[in-house]
Order: sequence, then structure tokens, then C-alpha cells
Amino acid sequence: MRKLHVLPVGHEMGDKGALTLLKGSGKVVEIPYTCYLIEDDQGNILVDTSSSVRWKQLHPPDLVKSWPVYIGEDERPDRMLEKEGFSTKDIDYVVNTHLHYDHCGNNAMFPDAKFLVQEDEVSHATYPGWWEASSYVRKVFDVSGLDYRLIRGDTELIPGVTLIRTPGHTEGHQSVVVELERSRVAVIAGDAIYLPDNYEDPILPGIYVDARRYGQSMQRIRDIIERRKGTLLLTHSKMYLSPGGWQKLKKGAQTFT
Ligand SMILES: [Zn+2]
Repeated sequence: MRKLHVLPVGHEMGDKGALTLLKGSGKVVEIPYTCYLIEDDQGNILVDTSSSVRWKQLHPPDLVKSWPVYIGEDERPDRMLEKEGFSTKDIDYVVNTHLHYDHCGNNAMFPDAKFLVQEDEVSHATYPGWWEASSYVRKVFDVSGLDYRLIRGDTELIPGVTLIRTPGHTEGHQSVVVELERSRVAVIAGDAIYLPDNYEDPILPGIYVDARRYGQSMQRIRDIIERRKGTLLLTHSKMYLSPGGWQKLKKGAQTFT
């Protein structure tokens, strides 16, 4: 049976106004990082790799200062995988929802995996415009030897696991739709939705390249969740939406089937 493991991998501290457009600006909050492991007979898929454990060396000084990262030794993605019974070599695919530093920071830990990223996300991350440059750190994703497979548009990766385009936060952002037995369907939103507030209010997140497409992508996810009575999983929140309402994730790893 396919299993979806939730892996909390540290956090950063940052301005609340970046999460809910203008609302709460000036207030520094804890922003959790969450990675997801899809365990399947047809391949183990890791969705996102958090911020680099070497962030102090690799991030530019401004970023180090304004967005400090906290990843304890036992919270590293490789340690979290170990706790769930996997080594980094067991990962067949890594899906980066997008290439902001806090979603691909530890790609270098997976030299044996195939990386699935939207083609336009790679081009914008590699040669960003001024309006999108501050959240990309080329050193953490442009690592020699990593096997990037560029994809265009919605793509079924293995039967029942589909990458869907959800642009707006970044040019080539994607989310992951996972068919499950007990939970019906889960959507791993990435940064297409940051917090329950964005979904409920609704309110746009504060970091985007295209507000209109962001709104459309949020709606696309909402349609799937509502139509299928699915589970909505976020990167930067300790809450998830189940058919029974918003629930708190357990401390440590948690599994959906
Ligand atoms: Zn992002």
C-alpha cells in the first residue's frame, strides 16, 4: 500500500507579512519546513529537500541575516528518512515544487535520484529577473552530477502520483497530487498555499511573481480538495486540512495511507 510520510525538517524565522500579503508585517514568526516521502513499489519519491544544512556557508549574507535557518542534527532530511527506515540511496525521485532555497537546499544529498522540476522553473531560477532573484540560491540546486529531468506541464510520475502546475508563487511552481487508499487523495501544495489563513481567508501569500495566476492555482487545489474530500498538506505550516477540518500534525514523522 502506498504510504505518504510527513517529515518535519527544521524551520526558519521570518516576517509574517511574507506569508499573508501585508497582514502581520513586522512580526517575526517561526516558519516550519516540511518534506514529504511517498513510499511506493514503483519508486520512492521525496517532495522538496528543505533549506541547506550548510546555509551559513551557501546563502548570501543578506539572506543569512534576514531569514535565519534552524535545522537540528536530528532534523536533517537524511536523519528524518533514516528514522522512517530509508537511506538517501532509497530515493528514486526528488520532486522540487520549485527552486526557492528552502525547497531544494539539500538536493546534493541525493546524487542517485532523478530530479523532477518544471522547465520554466529551472530557467527562471538559473537566470532570475530582479523581482524573483532574492529567494533563489543557485549554489544549492545547480550542483554538478545531479540528474535533472525537466518537465513541461502536468505529468503523471508513477500511476497515482501526478505533478500539477500551480504557478504564481514562482513561474514554474508545481504541486503533487497523491492517490491514497484510506485518505482518497492528498495534495502537497508546496508554496501554492502557505498557511490555513491563505486558504480560509482567503488571502494571497506575500511572495509571488504573478498574483492572478497565484489565485488561480490556489483555486485549482481547492477544487481538488473539495471535490474529492481530500487532505491538504502544506510546507510551511504544522496544520493540515482533512475532511474533518484543520488538524495539527504530530510531532516528528506522521504517515498517511
Ligand atoms: Zn517559495
